[in-house]
Amino acid sequence: MRIAILSDIHSNLEALEAVCHEMDRLGVDSVYFAGDVVGYGPDPNLCTRWVLENADAAVAGNHDFAAVGMMDSDSFNTNAKDAIQWNASQLEDELVDYLVSLPMMETRNGVTLVHASPRLPDQWEYIFTLWDAEENFAHFEGTFCFVGHSHQPVMVCMDSEGSVAVIPGDKLISEEGCRYLINVGSVGQPRDGNPDACFGLLDTELSEFSLVRARYEISVTQEKMFREGLPQALSDRLSEGR
Ligand code: ZN
Repeated sequence: MRIAILSDIHSNLEALEAVCHEMDRLGVDSVYFAGDVVGYGPDPNLCTRWVLENADAAVAGNHDFAAVGMMDSDSFNTNAKDAIQWNASQLEDELVDYLVSLPMMETRNGVTLVHASPRLPDQWEYIFTLWDAEENFAHFEGTFCFVGHSHQPVMVCMDSEGSVAVIPGDKLISEEGCRYLINVGSVGQPRDGNPDACFGLLDTELSEFSLVRARYEISVTQEKMFREGLPQALSDRLSEGR
């Protein structure tokens, strides 16, 4: 089975469409979503409806819960807060209900999904260091745990001795006795210096995982953000991938 793992779409329909095109090209059997479908961008309804209709497993992100009043947005910076308030004002009732219903953590076909960290799913902690990653391996079962939240793709493995290491590049072949904590990056607002949409692809038969990039028409999204009066800095950062 080929499972695509998407995270942090952030109301960016053009990025999502480019990812869909890439998923069609690569052949995907199932889609899992690791949270933050809304916030920042201009298309909360179409993106959330797509996740509702297409994701076989999905978890909530902090922006999803902030948009539907499940948490306050006090910890957000001013731009993020403005954007989440606008996103919340647009969301259709059915989609609000869907976001409210999302779990914090989910395991499907032996694969764990959580937006921020398996150790403290509702604390929205960032896994930025190898030490952070190491701490988290004890908090999921199975071989693979997929996260988002930082918008920075990274693959970390723990071997049978308990040593952790970052796997360089964009592809891994799963090794006997190793487990993997993987950030699949962001579809709608990448922050690793590459503005192309990012997602993960797990092939369970080949025991292979890869990070995939998809180029999209960023100016179309930026034009929509301008029309809706969303913060300029959020629009500018899409071009930089920062
Ligand atoms: Zn996010």
